[in-house]
Amino acid sequence: MQIRKSFSFEAAHVLPHHPGKCARLHGHSYRLEVALEGPLQPAGPAAGMVQDFDVIAAAVRGTVLAELDHRSLNDLMENPTAEQIALWIWNRLALELPQLVELVLWETRTSRVVLRAGDPLTRA
Ligand SMILES: [Zn+2]
Repeated sequence: MQIRKSFSFEAAHVLPHHPGKCARLHGHSYRLEVALEGPLQPAGPAAGMVQDFDVIAAAVRGTVLAELDHRSLNDLMENPTAEQIALWIWNRLALELPQLVELVLWETRTSRVVLRAGDPLTRA
């Protein structure tokens, strides 16, 4: 079974190689969705669940939002495209959430990146 949880954060960036307006400092309200897949846990605090939504929230807040929210993304990566941000998030989150199978990052209402387990760009 698959479960999904959504998050949002605000951040600024500059795309240094972009020929247009994205080369100027600006910000986005990013939306992040993470998908976990697995069997229902047979026992323990997450019995009957793939994973406790609170566990997902704690992992995303601690490893992603604490680093990205209200930050300049260029402090963390040289060329913070939506694709590079998604990879940055994946590489941190996959260590915390081994059942992670998909990550969707919206940069705007109409533009988003989808990164899935097995993509050659992921380390996991
Ligand atoms: Zn932008």
